[in-house]
Order: sequence, then C-alpha cells, then structure tokens
Amino acid sequence: MQDGEKGLKTDILGLTLEECRTLAVQMGEKAFRGEQLYRWMQKGVPLEEMKNLPAAFRSRLAEETEYRLPQIVKRQVSKNDGTVKYLMSMTDGECVESVFMRYEHGNTVCVSCQAGCRMGCRFCASTLRGKVRDLSASEILGQIAVIGRDTGERVGGVVMMGIGEPLDNYDNTVKFLRLVSDENGLNIGLRHISVSTCGLVPGIKKLAREGLPVTLSISLHASDDESRSALMPVNRSYCIDELLGACREYFEVTGRRVSFEYTLLSGENDSEADARRLAQLLKSRIKAPCHVNLIMLNRVDETGFQTPDRGAAQRFRATLERCGVNATIRRRLGTDIDAACGQLRLNTAENPDKE
Ligand code: SAH
Repeated sequence: MQDGEKGLKTDILGLTLEECRTLAVQMGEKAFRGEQLYRWMQKGVPLEEMKNLPAAFRSRLAEETEYRLPQIVKRQVSKNDGTVKYLMSMTDGECVESVFMRYEHGNTVCVSCQAGCRMGCRFCASTLRGKVRDLSASEILGQIAVIGRDTGERVGGVVMMGIGEPLDNYDNTVKFLRLVSDENGLNIGLRHISVSTCGLVPGIKKLAREGLPVTLSISLHASDDESRSALMPVNRSYCIDELLGACREYFEVTGRRVSFEYTLLSGENDSEADARRLAQLLKSRIKAPCHVNLIMLNRVDETGFQTPDRGAAQRFRATLERCGVNATIRRRLGTDIDAACGQLRLNTAENPDKE
C-alpha cells in the first residue's frame, strides 16, 4: 500500500475507522476486518497478537504497510502516587518520554511531539541537543495507545507537555488531535486536552480556527520582554505583547480560556515585583479570567538554574491572588522519579547502557 506520491508505506495507526475498512477491502478482505484492525491498534496491540485477524491479512499488513507503534524501553513507577514515566522508542530508534498520571478526575497522559526540540528555552532539558525530527500524528497517538495497554486503565485526558513544541509540528499536532478525539477511537474529549506552547504566535492564531476546543496553555515564565528573551529565544520573534494579543484572539474565537504556565526560577523571576508585574500584564492584556499554573523548576544540572523554596512559591501565588489573578502551584506528581522532562531521553542518548 503506497501513501500518496511519496511512495511511502501507509502508516496504518494514522488511519480513521473508515480508512481501515477501505484498506481491508483493498487487500481483498471484508470491511469488518478493517474495523477489527482499527480497534486493536487503538489498544496498542502488535500485529502478531491480533488473533482474530486472518494470518494472511496480518502478514500482508506487516509487509505492505507500516505500523508505527512505539515500544517501551524504560518504565519508572512512582511509589508515592502511581505516576508512571516511560521512555519510548519509535520505529527508527529515536526515544521520547511520556507520562501516565492519576488525578481524582481521571487518568491523564503527557505526550511528546518531537524527538528533541529547537526552541532553546534555557531551563529545559528537552532542547539541550536540539531537534532531531518531528513525530508523526500516529507516533503521538501511539504513546497513549501503548500506555493504555500497559496500565490497563482508561485514559481520559491528554497534555501535550512532553518533549517538543506542538506548534512547531503543527500539521501532525492537529492531525493527532483529530485522531485522539475520534469517537470511534480513543474518544478523548478535546476539552480534556491541553496544548502547551512556548508562544509561536502564527500557530496560536491558526489553531484558534481549527474548530478544536482544546485548552491552550502558554509557557510565559517572565513578565517583561528583556527577561523573557533571555530565558526563551522565541520571545525575540514574538514579543509578550504579540503573544498575549494572540491569546486574546484565541479566547475570542474559541470561547476557551487560556491558561499560563510560569516556572519559578530562584532569583530570576520569582520576586514579589515579578508577581505584581505578571498580574498587571495579564489583567491589562487578556481582559478575561485567566489562570496561572506555577511550576517549581525541575533542576537540570546543565542549565544552572535553581528551584526556589516552597515559601517563595507560596508568596508568589499569594501576590498574584491579591492582584486578582487566579493561580495554583502545580501538584508535583511522581517526585521520586522526578527527572525533568527530557532528561531521560538525554541520559539515554549519552549513556545508552545506563539504567
Ligand atoms: N514546548 C511546549 C511544551 C513544553 S513542556 C511549551 O513550551 O509549552 C511543558 C512546560 O514545562 C513548559 O511550560 C516548559 O517551559 C516547562 N518546563 C520545561 N523544562 C522545565 C523544567 N526543567 N522545570 C520546570 N518546568 C519546565
């Protein structure tokens, strides 16, 4: 089976139910065989274990198509709260991280969308060695399918907060959002999906018009352009004012509130004055209720930034609230397996044999 003009094999995990039915018929099978194939794939089951499919169909699929199911290379289970962090290998050996988290309202998976990242945020481990490649929509979906199978539990929410910048892999991100929310498939409600971005303004404006009511989460991390540009090179292309303008537009077009992430870096962005400036900025520019998620820095040795103490974080939050901005300090799940996102991939790339 060839995929369009590129002469590539069809990536079957990226197909819809209807497309699987068509594929089965093209391969001389009944349409319901395609439906069976689709159901197995959404459950992260490898071809050889799809026992109700005729062996001949399975071997044709193995030869003529591509099934890009990630493989679990490493699994770290938190003894505290059941959070599971995975290192997953794509079919070409590139590794990314995904995390399974249990919340009161259900299970959420954090997915990666690129192998590496080219955004260059100074405190982040994922970007230290740059970007190797984008993940396809099916490789992003595959992380959830595989985790669903591994845990045996239903996944009700997704956050695109793993390795990579979703809006720097725009088409595959949008395709993934359509696949994962398909009611025939994993059927994860778009309202239970968060897309986190460092602030690629054209992507935010485009996403607002896709008819996908996801929660947009903006990694802000600073309240003035000089500090933000020093922390996040993307700010030199799209300054805070343009970014907040795009957030406002996102809200106006979709009716969805935008939330902000603010990683606290000791002595860099965690002062009382920073909190007041942040509150002022959001109130003057967004003009709609907004929420700030305060994140305690996960220390990455190579970057030199320090995590503030809990007291500083609580004071920062109290100042925001006093200035009329809603804020929470993000609950830290899996603190005993707390490698910052991107560290597992980094360590494995540098020391392939290290456990
Ligand atoms: N590219 C997306 C997803 C990144 S990861 C984005 O920039 O939003 C999700 C969040 O974790 C982002 O807000 C990111 O800035 C933040 N982050 C990255 N490294 C971190 C670290 N070491 N400690 C705490 N937060 C970090």
